[in-house]
Amino acid sequence: MLPALSPACSPSLLPLAPPAPTKPADTPSSLSPTPIVLPYLPLPPITYIMGLHEKVRILSDAGKYDICASTSCANPPAVRPNASIGNVMPPGVCHSFTPDGRCVSLFKVLYTNACSMDCTYCTNPTCHRKESFQPKELCDAFMSLYMRNYVEGMFLSSGIARDPERTMDDILEAIELLRNKYRFGGYVHLKILPGANLDQIKRATAIADRVSINVEAPSSSLLSSIASNKEYGNDILLRQRWIKESIKKGGAPAGQTTQFVVGAAGENDREIIDRLWMEYRDMKLKRGYFSAFNPIKETPMEKEDGTPLWREHRLYQTDWLLRVYKFPRREVYGVLDDDGMLENMDPKLALARRTFDRPVDPNEADYRSLLRIPGIGPTSASRILEHRKRGGRIENIRTLKSMGAVANRARPFLMLNGWQASMERWWS
Ligand code: SF4
Repeated sequence: MLPALSPACSPSLLPLAPPAPTKPADTPSSLSPTPIVLPYLPLPPITYIMGLHEKVRILSDAGKYDICASTSCANPPAVRPNASIGNVMPPGVCHSFTPDGRCVSLFKVLYTNACSMDCTYCTNPTCHRKESFQPKELCDAFMSLYMRNYVEGMFLSSGIARDPERTMDDILEAIELLRNKYRFGGYVHLKILPGANLDQIKRATAIADRVSINVEAPSSSLLSSIASNKEYGNDILLRQRWIKESIKKGGAPAGQTTQFVVGAAGENDREIIDRLWMEYRDMKLKRGYFSAFNPIKETPMEKEDGTPLWREHRLYQTDWLLRVYKFPRREVYGVLDDDGMLENMDPKLALARRTFDRPVDPNEADYRSLLRIPGIGPTSASRILEHRKRGGRIENIRTLKSMGAVANRARPFLMLNGWQASMERWWS
């Protein structure tokens, strides 16, 4: 939740005070740390601060549909109507994970909510209140939140106000200002607009940690059914290729990602899995994000049915099988029904139920077979193999648990000491 954005709480966006002296008088200079020189930002007028609050509120609200972490904006339960702390619905701050596993809180916001495109699921082209940052305004708002420890980085996306190149230039100017004048060296995830030029992509990958461009739908024809003026091959795939080349030369160390609006174009899960697999293979994608389509009032799709959140969740689990477990795509097809859809069940469990014809002995199975047992992941599979290499045996569920396996999930699929570990014989 974005803290302290109401005008009543305006001190949260006050500009930074000049830095305090960093070296105590009695500290020997040889032992004193190198002083960190913070930029001095002069106090802007109060009207500027108040105006910024409103802009931040509107543009962070408009940014809530862009995803940079696998947490859904689930509706809070009605039994907690007044709960605000921990509620993931309000926009502004979201959490994401860095490549080394740290969780960082990000200021998630649009540069502008004005958009000349016609994506039928999106509220920006039809919304009545249009706002845009100036580069300095965005930097002031971000640094104010950052210095109060509310956020550690930024996820910046945008509508396409005039043409993509002009808006992209404004965005780049803002982030270059943040890096060069405000000296912010932390995490920035920057959205590349469809149609951005090659030079802009090079600039973006030079200053951002991660960049992304949304494919939205798994194919050209499906995209054109929901966004008639986006050209899949040219506006998106070509730009992803340029991003890949720039990353290869050392840009954007956290790589590129993309996002699907699940269910908006009437695609099935097999089409999403296929596109995702191609993205990992051809674009060297770090990961894909899924956003269940949610009909928004006053958009052309307001009367359509929304996509259930469980579908988004099952796609994330399937993505995990492809990306982390490295299951072949054809094997993942095994969990799809005749319409190419996932059922509402953990796909690894569904796969095991369909393919296991007998329980597996963890003392005999190779890495690939261990990984296919629900409850056993890459880490626990490697530990089992290490244990066996040292002459150890898996005699009981407790040993398996000590290696990080989720015992209850694995139990029905295991043979231990010649005995099936559970009486559940549903695979026969
Ligand atoms: S490009 Fe499409 S999805 Fe993005 S802001 Fe514009 S209308 Fe919305």
